Amino acid sequence: MRLVLVGPPGAGKGTQAQFVASNLSIPKISTGDIFRANVSGGTELGKLAKEYMDRGDLVPDEVTIAMVRDRLAENDAQDGFLLDGFPRNVPQAEILKKILAEFEVGLDVVLELVVDDEEVVRRLAGRRTCSQCGRIWHVDFDDKKDDVCDACDGRLYQRDDDKEATVRHRLEVYQEQTAPLVSFYADEGILVGVDATGPVEEVTQRAMEALT
Ligand code: ADP
Ligand code: ADP
Ligand code: ADP
Repeated sequence: MRLVLVGPPGAGKGTQAQFVASNLSIPKISTGDIFRANVSGGTELGKLAKEYMDRGDLVPDEVTIAMVRDRLAENDAQDGFLLDGFPRNVPQAEILKKILAEFEVGLDVVLELVVDDEEVVRRLAGRRTCSQCGRIWHVDFDDKKDDVCDACDGRLYQRDDDKEATVRHRLEVYQEQTAPLVSFYADEGILVGVDATGPVEEVTQRAMEALT
């Protein structure tokens, strides 16, 4: 299955991507994770991306698209994949279509995770990420009293771009640049909306039902 997750920052894309990709046995391609790995690794790509990420702006399309094209060219990604965080604007969606056409395939489903702004702000304010395995936690919802990852014992950190001022800007960027994708994919007839409120497992179940 070739699948895209879309939704505002904090909707639960990364959280659901972990479970949905593993349920479907397809690779998860998270552009945010790849950028963060490159920033912490000090690569050329990381140096290019960092200033945009710190501001909460999108990394320029040419940089992002080259990275996704490389990743999709790897054999495992052609057969099936879950994209988390890409495409992020209509030009990226149009290029994705062309890249997939080169492999003679197309997207099967775009899953929109639907939550309101208030919930998004609560989720982002308490988000913690494992510096070792990348797993996502929440201080309240997962009752995290220490900063140790229950999955791998790695250290949890708060993303710099989850600070309040940057969050507000990222929500604006979402409304202006990413939200138009919802009607773009609705027009293509492959958009499915899922209520992303409630416990993580229930959202996963709704997502899996929407896909079958
Ligand atoms: P969230 O989980 O909050 O939705 P991500 O981890 O997906 O955020 O993205 C973090 C940052 O990485 C974005 O604010 C942006 O700077 C950059 N980024 C991720 N994906 C893309 C993309 N497809 N195009 C441009 N920038 C991106
Ligand atoms: P390559 O795999 O050819 O080294 P990538 O652009 O795929 O190049 O990866 C660059 C960096 O991002 C690597 O350090 C890799 O560990 C990391 N990375 C790749 N894919 C992911 C992913 N889905 N989630 C987190 N980090 C990733
Ligand atoms: P996104 O990738 O869309 O930005 P994340 O998956 O990183 O979102 O989730 C943002 C925060 O909300 C994380 O701290 C995560 O643990 C938490 N979260 C995700 N899904 C739920 C849920 N259904 N209920 C409560 N908290 C959630």
